[in-house]
Amino acid sequence: MRVGIGTDVHPVEPGRECWVAGLRWDGVDGCAGHSDGDVAAHALCDALLSAAGLGDVGAVFGTGRPEWSGASGVVLLAEVRRIVAAQGWAVGNAAVQVIGNAPKIGTRRAEAQRVLSDAVGGPVAVSGTTTDGLGLTGRGEGIAAIATALLVPDS
Ligand code: MG
Repeated sequence: MRVGIGTDVHPVEPGRECWVAGLRWDGVDGCAGHSDGDVAAHALCDALLSAAGLGDVGAVFGTGRPEWSGASGVVLLAEVRRIVAAQGWAVGNAAVQVIGNAPKIGTRRAEAQRVLSDAVGGPVAVSGTTTDGLGLTGRGEGIAAIATALLVPDS
């Protein structure tokens, strides 16, 4: 078995559509970036790649593969699942925690877990927290996520 870790942070862009944990959040400012800015999906991608020893999202979907720029976080996650599966790994489980003032992840936890679990082909736990007003997430300047993943040999 192999564990991996991933983190992501994106700046909040007022008025931008918000995508976090594979869900669209109406009434919440989304994140800037070439992609949908889904920090939870991106952190999970990094955790899976980390566990498989395959580097990180930047290495896999960087400038060498422009066809992936602008892809949704869930689409990237499904591609990462395909990449780690090709190396003989299946997802044992994964967890991601979203850090920020909004969206309130707990209000749609089951939905988020379903979407992300479907994307990676294994159970994904989703949680959220704030930083009590401290730091870039506390000031509402950005949203962050930390993820872990456990890969098991695909028998
Ligand atoms: Mg990102």
